[in-house]
Amino acid sequence: MKIIINQVPQGGLYLEEEASAKELDLETDLIRFRTPLKLNAHVFLITNALTVELNIRAVLFSNCSRCLEEFEWKINKDTQLNYSLGSRDVFIDLSDDIREEVILDYPIKPLCRSNCKGLCVQCGKNKNQGGCNCGST
Ligand SMILES: [Zn+2]
Ligand SMILES: [Zn+2]
Repeated sequence: MKIIINQVPQGGLYLEEEASAKELDLETDLIRFRTPLKLNAHVFLITNALTVELNIRAVLFSNCSRCLEEFEWKINKDTQLNYSLGSRDVFIDLSDDIREEVILDYPIKPLCRSNCKGLCVQCGKNKNQGGCNCGST
């Protein structure tokens, strides 16, 4: 998302854009995206500063680090970004900051649910789907 400074009117500017997770280099071995990122921005220009109230949304999927099942999760984040402007600045590119905001929300170990029971160490059965015959509980 780029903001061209002289296109921001007095009362602020609303922008709605989609951004590709690939282009922002957001996909990892553990975390992939189902949808592009949806960006909603409210941009204000005050003398030598640009303020962006930003909402970032996306649907992601991962494999649970305990039971290995694939599951979907969402990012829906509000944040505010501030830029001081130099006299030669023509536009501000938000991409790096957007990337950082999203990565901050990544779990270190993705879990399908907080109480995921994981796999039986003996037979490998997913214990969320009921007990197995190994005698372990
Ligand atoms: Zn799980
Ligand atoms: Zn078992």
